[in-house]
Amino acid sequence: MDAYVILPLLAALSSVPVPRTLTVARDTRLLVIAPHPDDEILGAGGLMRRVHAAGGSVRVVYLTDGDGYRDGVKLEEHGKKPSSGDYKDYGRRRQHEAHSALETLGLDEHDATFLRFPDGGLCKLTRTYWSARRTAYRSPYTRRDRPPTSDTNIPDTEYRGEDLTQELARLIGEFGPTLILVPRKEDQHPDHCAAWYFVADALGDVARIHPGLAPDVVNYIVHYNNWPFDDEGAGMAPPAGLRGGASGWIRVNLTPEEVLFKRAALRRYKTQMHAMRWFLESFVRSNEVFSRPAPSRVVLPSRRSPCCDP
Ligand SMILES: [Zn+2]
Repeated sequence: MDAYVILPLLAALSSVPVPRTLTVARDTRLLVIAPHPDDEILGAGGLMRRVHAAGGSVRVVYLTDGDGYRDGVKLEEHGKKPSSGDYKDYGRRRQHEAHSALETLGLDEHDATFLRFPDGGLCKLTRTYWSARRTAYRSPYTRRDRPPTSDTNIPDTEYRGEDLTQELARLIGEFGPTLILVPRKEDQHPDHCAAWYFVADALGDVARIHPGLAPDVVNYIVHYNNWPFDDEGAGMAPPAGLRGGASGWIRVNLTPEEVLFKRAALRRYKTQMHAMRWFLESFVRSNEVFSRPAPSRVVLPSRRSPCCDP
């Protein structure tokens, strides 16, 4: 299955420069792909608020519930060894926190979609657990091998890569985004890196089924060495040593009000504030940084896992 990063590819073919700005208007339809609940606010809480305030639409697709964060679960369970039930409970809490965070930005529960794929397992779905030719991936945390009741619409969805690509293609086609935000493939968390590959793969399907749909695909980043907490400035510089993709880094300056909204939304993630407040708050700055992916071709399943060991 071939997928193309549409905008940079067209730009490369036509020699039209890729813009270094993000335009937000009333007709903006923003789709944010969040590997875990909180990533959307860390990477783009200010921009999400801007789109909503401009009268545009915002949809967040959470790939996992974030239920495999062992240290976070242990903290909530006062150090005892977590059971699969504890991990499931933690995922439910993070879902509630996500609803609350979106509400803080002015959104409602219909703007959130939870696919409930395995936290910590997305990378393995890009190759080893791709299709029905082998058993589905089983989470070592929740012991699930498929989403429980979730917002997936395709029957018999299991923890397989092709099922996740299909779900994403369906969601993108139905929502019709003008702008998609998704982590960069260089993000050092394997789930974040894998999120990029799944979206790029799904866009291949979307281009065939909805040829008129050509969303602007933009990357955000959360995990990259010590970024951004190694820098205590008011603004956020891009991660050192990482290129700005097709157009160079895009710096979106936030208004003081947008910064307040972002901080308030992030604080709704009580479990995450409990576990790593310092990390979350290091993303609350006077700007957010984005980049556009360089032209590339993504084919899943990949011959080797692009984001983790097999
Ligand atoms: Zn994450």
